[in-house]
Amino acid sequence: MRSLAKPLFNRLALIGAGLIGSSIARAARAQQVVRAITVTARSPATRQRVAELGFADAVVDTNAAAVEGADLVIVCVPVGACGTVAAEIGPHLAAGATVSDVGSVKGSVLRDMALHLPANVHFVPAHPVAGTEYSGPDAGFAELFVNRWCILTPPEHADQQAVERLAAFWRALGANVETMTAEHHDLVLAVTSHLPHLIAYTIVGTADELSQVTRSEVLQYSAGGFRDFTRIAASDPTMWRDVFLANKEAVLEMLGRFNEDVSALTRAIRRGDGESLFKHFSRTRAIRKGIVAIGQDSPAPDFGRPHPDLPMPPLPRPYATESE
Ligand code: NAP
Repeated sequence: MRSLAKPLFNRLALIGAGLIGSSIARAARAQQVVRAITVTARSPATRQRVAELGFADAVVDTNAAAVEGADLVIVCVPVGACGTVAAEIGPHLAAGATVSDVGSVKGSVLRDMALHLPANVHFVPAHPVAGTEYSGPDAGFAELFVNRWCILTPPEHADQQAVERLAAFWRALGANVETMTAEHHDLVLAVTSHLPHLIAYTIVGTADELSQVTRSEVLQYSAGGFRDFTRIAASDPTMWRDVFLANKEAVLEMLGRFNEDVSALTRAIRRGDGESLFKHFSRTRAIRKGIVAIGQDSPAPDFGRPHPDLPMPPLPRPYATESE
């Protein structure tokens, strides 16, 4: 049997065990990157389900109990709840522990959490840019972060060793790690993630409200692009409500630009300006090709549907075996 090198952390505490929290637990266990995992969740039903699924060494009832003796704490709850959770765990954190999160917005989380954390812990916020439209502990899987980006947004005077240790943790889970400021993160994600979700929520709602398009027709003919929007628009309402409230400024800025571009395309259609439309669509097609070229999506046609013939990206080889 191969002996394992020292894991990166002794005890990982996960506050929240939905899609992201449960995927971290599964991946961290598969990669043997921590010695033990303690999990808690808000509701007794979720805690019971986590115990049944068996991806944690201990399931506890309170956030305070979860962080006892943990040297890595990752808060995996909707961004609007991160401040309250930080206030609850603050007095119970072990000296020298690293505290992180997975929130899709970073500026607000940094502000809301830092306030409640003692000076003797390392606070390094993070955002794994990986997900699906499903929620809850059953939805997670160990390969979720493979070949995805995890963005760290450490505060200005963060301890570099702590930042590097957390980066190593995410790399062991298969992610590529990037570091940037929280402000820059929020601007970039506003256009790459938040705005597309807002558009999907809007278009699916609009189609649903059109009285002349009956519900059955919307469903029947949904192959024509609409189906992909419905997948995105099925994303968790609590999570996305919190994202838009927390990243208000950047989303409004990007929405302003988007509205200008929609107006330009509207004008081109009204004027029968096919050349403008063709130029625009050629540019966007090239962007899609670029995303496939850097491995951020499958080149398989009809993306968004499961392709059982395509292999699931494997987890990287188990973290740091001594015999190699
Ligand atoms: P999820 O599957 O809905 O799980 C959320 C977890 O947080 C559950 O364990 C839930 O507990 C708990 N929770 C909910 N509201 C809470 C509150 N007010 N106080 C304490 N705990 C609460 O969500 P998720 O997709 O894992 O998302 C978690 C975080 O990851 C969010 O901040 C989100 O922005 C970020 N994120 C999500 C994605 C994605 O695609 N889903 C991608 C990257 C990052 P109960 O089950 O007991 O209610």
